[in-house]
Amino acid sequence: MKRLLLLLLAAGGAALWWKNRGGGGSDESAWSQSESAGAGDVAPDPPKLGGDVDAELLAILACPLDKQPVTRQGNYLVCQVCQRHYPIREGIPVMLIDEALTPEQAASATA
Ligand SMILES: [Zn+2]
Repeated sequence: MKRLLLLLLAAGGAALWWKNRGGGGSDESAWSQSESAGAGDVAPDPPKLGGDVDAELLAILACPLDKQPVTRQGNYLVCQVCQRHYPIREGIPVMLIDEALTPEQAASATA
């Protein structure tokens, strides 16, 4: 649960945190050896739709457009107000308007 939230909320910040974490010494030049950090975000496999979503996580998720709760329908989380379909990829809900299917797209994609 905590790990999921970290993935969702701190994808960028985690890299910085990780970088700073290695220090702890008298050597102040530690930062210079990790100049290529941040390039390691390549996913080994293309994300697949579906997967298990934590019920607690589901309960706190909301449509980014109108802040309304979403309900699960198959591999998507559907906003009850605007009917946008947010994909679930390997158990991670992608709550991005750009990634969501519009009601029209969803009608043909899930028919
Ligand atoms: Zn909505």
